[in-house]
Amino acid sequence: MTNKNAVYPGSYDPLTNGHIDIIERGLRIFEKITVAVLKNPQKKYLFDLDERLEILNHTFKDNPRIEVDCFEGLLVDYLNKREITTVVRGLRAISDFEVEFQMALMNRRLSPDVETIFLVPSVNYSFLSSRLVKEIYQLGGEIRPMVPELVDRKLKEKYRL
Ligand code: ADP
Repeated sequence: MTNKNAVYPGSYDPLTNGHIDIIERGLRIFEKITVAVLKNPQKKYLFDLDERLEILNHTFKDNPRIEVDCFEGLLVDYLNKREITTVVRGLRAISDFEVEFQMALMNRRLSPDVETIFLVPSVNYSFLSSRLVKEIYQLGGEIRPMVPELVDRKLKEKYRL
């Protein structure tokens, strides 16, 4: 099976310019990237699923090569359903490595056809995470160039800034 399509799974709580950088890099390799938002009932999110999907749909509305979707349960089951075998993930630093390595090997164990491709972001985003963005906004920090405008607006609404 050729790899024209890839799935980029994640929480996207919220989308940052680091995610966008990885998607743009992925589009140099793949015909189409499916940004797949994980629905994990156990996890507490700042943005509910609809808000996360709204942000993604709005941000990528003009690019037909980017699809936005969501999934529940195992990533390999979702990949199987969509008949896609390639996963894209971003690697920022050593801290990401262990978790990503474990996950890639576990996914391969669950479904031997699945390959995970790691892409490295621009250095400007190599320290950026959704968690850090939320913390900075909560404390009233200004971090506009690190997130799309809609996310900036929504974060300000959430924290009443
Ligand atoms: P998850 O909860 O699955 O880690 P995230 O939305 O935090 O979901 O991240 C999705 C993917 O994007 C992960 O592979 C993560 O390493 C990557 N990622 C997140 N932020 C960045 C960034 N600033 N630069 C590169 N990759 C990133």
